[in-house]
Amino acid sequence: MHKSTLDYAKLQDELDELSNYRNQFHIPKNKNGNELIYMTGNSLGLQPKQTKAYINQELEDWANLGVDGHTEAKNPWLPYHEFLTKSMANVVGAKPIEVVTMNTLTANLHFMMVSFYKPTKKRYKIIIESDAFPSDKYAVESQLRHHGFDDKEGLILWKPRKNETLLRYEDLETILKKQGNEVALVMIGGVNYYTGQYFDLKRITKLGHNHDCIVGFDCAHGAGNVALNLHDSGADFAVWCTYKYLNSGPGSLSGCFVHERHAYNKDLNRFTGWWSHNKQTRFNMRHEFDVLPGAEGWQLSNPPILSMAAIKASLDIFNEVGIKKLTDKSKKLTGYFEFLLNQLGEDTIKIITPKNPEARGCQLSIQVLNADKTLHDKLTEAGIISDWREPDVIRCAPTPLYNSFEDVYRMVDKLKEILNSIDLV
Ligand SMILES: *Cc1c(COP(=O)(O)O)cnc(C)c1O
Repeated sequence: MHKSTLDYAKLQDELDELSNYRNQFHIPKNKNGNELIYMTGNSLGLQPKQTKAYINQELEDWANLGVDGHTEAKNPWLPYHEFLTKSMANVVGAKPIEVVTMNTLTANLHFMMVSFYKPTKKRYKIIIESDAFPSDKYAVESQLRHHGFDDKEGLILWKPRKNETLLRYEDLETILKKQGNEVALVMIGGVNYYTGQYFDLKRITKLGHNHDCIVGFDCAHGAGNVALNLHDSGADFAVWCTYKYLNSGPGSLSGCFVHERHAYNKDLNRFTGWWSHNKQTRFNMRHEFDVLPGAEGWQLSNPPILSMAAIKASLDIFNEVGIKKLTDKSKKLTGYFEFLLNQLGEDTIKIITPKNPEARGCQLSIQVLNADKTLHDKLTEAGIISDWREPDVIRCAPTPLYNSFEDVYRMVDKLKEILNSIDLV
């Protein structure tokens, strides 16, 4: 049984075999030089200390080699994206041929829909979760409009039941049973950004495929957080960003998954560029287009190496730790966080994230009854970096690579102190 004491939290850190990884990250500090308690790795992951050296390497090679860096750099730029593929595939549980790092997240979502959202007069609707991340909702609405459909009529929302916040698979099944033959695409956030609910990707894929729908996931809140097992899920495609749990810096590139079953299908329509073309003949320039097999065949441009260097720096850490050890620790850390929060009492806070550790990642979304943003401001003043979502939810994501048991203890201790000091009526 857990204990709500600082000594107990510190002991858990001593027992934790990943605790030293915290030293590999820059932890932001307050004005007095004290480390902040950083709980927003779900929004922008912290910088690994080695990132600078990885980027400097490319700056040096660029300075010394100019254009020859494409072939002569220590990590030649021409095939640079390939250096990320294996580690990225491991992080999301995919085969290397299924994964590529390119573009940004919402852009990739559109590129995937170009290939996989093929509406017809009868089958054109898209299912998303009702509280999907805004960018995803805007993206699918604009795809509907782009194909000449009404974005209200064409969008089906998978909603929570009255007085509930989490989504139930039975309800998705009901939607599909009723309207499955009108649905072209099921596009769900693999881990919901707001509630932290981690969906059973395999189950959703099966449901969708049973009704001949294409199934895709936005795994922005899943990559580097949970073992996504994208290949086994059977999903047709998935996209994610690398600046949240994957710690690759603001606005960094996105990952993209296309299931192996589509790898050699040259008939799949897509938007193309020279980077989707056969590598052997890419520079002959005057050939007929010859698409690359696998996810690489969706690339358009030669990629930004400086961003990729930051991704490589981060993936090398993930690769060393492995997703199994990472998620094992994550479950312990978030479990302890949950235990501490529950001590505050149900009439004060309610955790809306699923209780089942298999149905969530590290994030807990804490609903504070009758609270407003003042509470969040006070937390920030106290050195706790969390994320506030209107009307009354604090999202906190203790990440297993750089957050400690002591962090979660101190966070809940402060929260308790602040809750006692303000009147919630
Ligand atoms: C973070 C996030 C985005 C952001 O998209 P960008 O194109 O990287 O700006 C989109 N969708 C989801 C689900 C996210 O969590």
